[in-house]
Amino acid sequence: MNPFAAQKQFFHTGKTLSVPFRLRQLRRLYRAIWENQKEISNALAADLGKSPAESYMAEIGFALHELRYTIRHLTEWAKPQRVPTPLIHQPAQSRLMREPYGVCLIISPWNYPFLLSITPLISAIAGGNCAVLKPSELSPHTAAVLKKLIAGCFPSWYVRTVTGGADRAAAETARPYDLIFFTGSQRVGRLVLEAAGKNLTPTVLELGGKSPCIVEPDVPLSTAARRIVWGKLLNAGQTCVVPDYLLVHQSIKGALVQELVRAAQGFYGSAPCQNPNYPRIISPLHFERLVGLITSTSEKQRLFGGNWDEKTQKISLSILDCGSVTHPTPALAMEEEIFGPILPILSYQSIEEAVRFLTKRPKPLALYLFTQNKGTQQRVMEKVPFGSGCINDTISHLATPYLPFGGVGASGMGAYHGRFGFEAFTHTKGILQKPMFPDIPLRYPPLENRLALLQKIWR
Ligand code: NAD
Repeated sequence: MNPFAAQKQFFHTGKTLSVPFRLRQLRRLYRAIWENQKEISNALAADLGKSPAESYMAEIGFALHELRYTIRHLTEWAKPQRVPTPLIHQPAQSRLMREPYGVCLIISPWNYPFLLSITPLISAIAGGNCAVLKPSELSPHTAAVLKKLIAGCFPSWYVRTVTGGADRAAAETARPYDLIFFTGSQRVGRLVLEAAGKNLTPTVLELGGKSPCIVEPDVPLSTAARRIVWGKLLNAGQTCVVPDYLLVHQSIKGALVQELVRAAQGFYGSAPCQNPNYPRIISPLHFERLVGLITSTSEKQRLFGGNWDEKTQKISLSILDCGSVTHPTPALAMEEEIFGPILPILSYQSIEEAVRFLTKRPKPLALYLFTQNKGTQQRVMEKVPFGSGCINDTISHLATPYLPFGGVGASGMGAYHGRFGFEAFTHTKGILQKPMFPDIPLRYPPLENRLALLQKIWR
């Protein structure tokens, strides 16, 4: 039997429906990750040059925390939930049941290759599904560790890993999976949705885009700069929710740039491309692409940085002046998702101007707003559509199981983390249950004489 059919068959035995079974699998996964931390960390260093502390903070520790949280709450999430029943159906009871989809395909990217494979897997297991992981071919060391870890934890008819490139991934999406959970680019997201449509497979798309960061003049600039640069340089800017570009109030542009430079130098020194703790760009292709974004700008536009080292494949923080939101200076970096340590800055005169600029663009995955003014906070949060985000911080909204994480419009569909992940990997089955007695004849034909009564109780 082929492995996909074996998984379908295993799912239909009903074993994964048991909550104690799911909890045992989650605990097994927790132990395996805890015991193999070093190997995972080494693979992330080999693929992306991440330091052990960054790997723990942004990938391993995050996954362990998500596991602990899920283990603690799963029994409560999986319980059927009683809901009211309208008068016309009485006597009856109604409840919601969370049903696993079946066999789920999880396709992940290379930038957080461990986290973005394991976090959806946690939700898939919690939901009672079988799963197939397809990690990125661009992070082969982590893919190999994932394969070994998963094979050590679970039989292949329950959870397995497939490796390979675009062709292999495309072939998987053509199969009649019960759910596809895809994290990656908008371009490939479209292909996945098209393939899933042929089988009417429900699909979650976790995509990218250009996430803006707005800075108002009322915040302490050194703190704002530290939080922005921290988010920008985490994984050398190769983060889906990285602050892609800044919208800065005209009056603080110069002062903020100075603070950004100070923060970057404080974190990685004056020669970041030689700093072993500063991550590198994933591949020569992406390195070339990013260098191209810098060299396509004029000297005058480059406010800071613009340095790179081909040998270490690292690029320092590069701040680009892109004019104002009303008169932008054309720059390639403002045309596509940057996904690297390049930070274009545009200025604005009023927050309304910034909001107008944003609402004309595709809905971003994240938005960051630095201001202490409650009115401005409320106005921006209400008026600008985006996946999720932070006020006075960057990226942290992603690292909490209490907030849904996902995009909207061009940045994706569906969300996960914590309970939202459990919900993404389960179908809500609504059930109305009636007793056999009494059998009230109100709804049975002939109905002619009941119109007045129906109008009274059913509206
Ligand atoms: P990508 O879309 O190139 O690849 C992602 C995965 O899709 C890989 O495993 C790849 O093998 C697979 N793939 C390639 N062709 C395919 C096809 N035809 N059908 C099915 N799968 C296919 O993305 P990437 O370069 O690995 O990652 C970077 C992108 O991912 C960025 O756009 C970033 O914003 C986005 N991203 C989003 C999130 C999020 O949570 N929203 C997180 C990380 C990265």
